[in-house]
Amino acid sequence: MRIIETVSSIRQVSQHITRPLGLVPTMGYLHDGHVSLVNRAKSDNDSVVVSIFINPKQFDLTEDLTGYPRNLQRDIKILEDLDVNFVFVPEVSEIYPENYATYVDVGEMSRKLEGSSRPGHFLGVTTVVTKLFNVIRPDRAYFGQKDGQQAVIVKRLVRDLNFETEIVIVPTVREYDGLAMSSRNSRLTEQQREAATVINRALSEAIYMWESGVTDSVTLRRTVEKVVSTEPLAKLDYVSISDVDTLDELNNVYSEAMISVAVWFDNVRLIDNKVIGGNRLE
Ligand code: AMP
Repeated sequence: MRIIETVSSIRQVSQHITRPLGLVPTMGYLHDGHVSLVNRAKSDNDSVVVSIFINPKQFDLTEDLTGYPRNLQRDIKILEDLDVNFVFVPEVSEIYPENYATYVDVGEMSRKLEGSSRPGHFLGVTTVVTKLFNVIRPDRAYFGQKDGQQAVIVKRLVRDLNFETEIVIVPTVREYDGLAMSSRNSRLTEQQREAATVINRALSEAIYMWESGVTDSVTLRRTVEKVVSTEPLAKLDYVSISDVDTLDELNNVYSEAMISVAVWFDNVRLIDNKVIGGNRLE
């Protein structure tokens, strides 16, 4: 496995690598969710690049950026054991040199949900994804359903800008008690970690209600709010029931919808989602 730090080297390497080439973009502090993306990329492609880059432009709170967990040595060991071909670990100045000015904006859908709670977040995400695609030219790129809105937006980006990269969405990997794996889980106290199981319970309850015949979003949303409110350490940021392609809020769910939540545990914010009327985003 080779570790690459510069744009010029990763560009050169990816021009000569055996294809198809799969890219797994991450911010590091790897867990089994990331591993599942890498395994899928390995089984679909001849070569795999994993990028580790904590993208400052997608953080709106400096507190979240500086507190974001990191352990590069451990990540590298995990990727070595997975037999990944290349790890791309650029410095911030390599991706955003002085006087950097260009941003990619996917429009309205990036200002909803996470975009509304974290202004500018997706501008950072779509800009860095565009840069990675441009430099690495992957045949396929792998994203987790865990960040459902991100997956939907990246698919739109690729369609709108005619990238040749195929976007593959990989199902959410959960802990034994249903909590979606996330690097941010490591920032929870023991009590908060226990309390965080409320997220999966709330989403599951809403799915159960829909399966029992409740289609109106107000009732489904209220169900999530009610379950989350039983947990004193949890503070709901938003719950959304949206179209899986446009992310428009739906009044009723007749066939398919993504139900997404963001929940605060003190200063740690966790997100999760499930697809109603279908198992997953495609
Ligand atoms: P991150 O390092 O948090 O930016 O995540 C990198 C990629 O891993 C993103 O595409 C995430 O959606 C995906 N990911 C994160 N957590 C999970 C999970 N629990 N299950 C599946 N994919 C995940």
